[in-house]
Amino acid sequence: MTTRTPLMAGNWKMNLDYKEGLALVESLGEALKGVDESTVEAAVIPPFVDLRTAQTSIATNAFPLALGAQDLSEHVGTGAYTGEISGQMLAALDVTYVLVGHSERREYHREGEAVTNRKVNSAIAAGLTPILCVGEGLDERKAGKQIEYTVAQLEGGLEGLSAEDARRVVIAYEPVWAIGTGEVATPEDAQEVCGAIRETLAALYDQGVAQAVRVLYGGSVKSSNVAEIMAQPDVDGALVGGASLKAEEFAKIVRFADAA
Ligand code: PEP
Repeated sequence: MTTRTPLMAGNWKMNLDYKEGLALVESLGEALKGVDESTVEAAVIPPFVDLRTAQTSIATNAFPLALGAQDLSEHVGTGAYTGEISGQMLAALDVTYVLVGHSERREYHREGEAVTNRKVNSAIAAGLTPILCVGEGLDERKAGKQIEYTVAQLEGGLEGLSAEDARRVVIAYEPVWAIGTGEVATPEDAQEVCGAIRETLAALYDQGVAQAVRVLYGGSVKSSNVAEIMAQPDVDGALVGGASLKAEEFAKIVRFADAA
């Protein structure tokens, strides 16, 4: 019997300025009022410049929403790192989660295993929960190498982390071919790799860590397909891109259990 609370996290990417972001937080917060936070956790992950406004709105209205950031510096604290935002700065804004290793960072910003691993460590040092994103591209999927590719990214991202710190990480399995394409992995595809991720956590650490860590699925998740994905035993939530930009749609995703 698992005690993992499902997490539905909305990655806004480079969308919505702070006023538009505020409007979305307000309508989403209203739509989620009454949600039992012990049964599902919802998080919004806006651009950096929206965070302060979102934080204030969530706190003032007591919305059942956690806050996440899309990236953080590998450097800790403060320093001469022009353009960077540290984990400590995010923590001061009541940020709980931070994406690390998203495929768009890996592709467009050449972030590989070493920097991803350093960012996981920076997040942990700041008391944040990293959402470590892993997942294969179309070539690896066609070659049947989705598990070995994804597991290698997982091992790289977690390298050197203690069991205690690893427990605090959330893993998001996002097959790159399913992100923003409308292509969704079948529930069985999602389960296959999410299950392999959990087995890897047990091998790297122990069953306690493997059973504690939440493994999310991401890639064209919508209200119409979330329930079947969530029915898989090793899927503990969703990382949602496009569908998180509409309050009503994302609220339905968070409330997936009501529809079941
Ligand atoms: C993402 O970028 O993390 C994502 C899952 O996007 P989408 O839901 O739009 O496929």
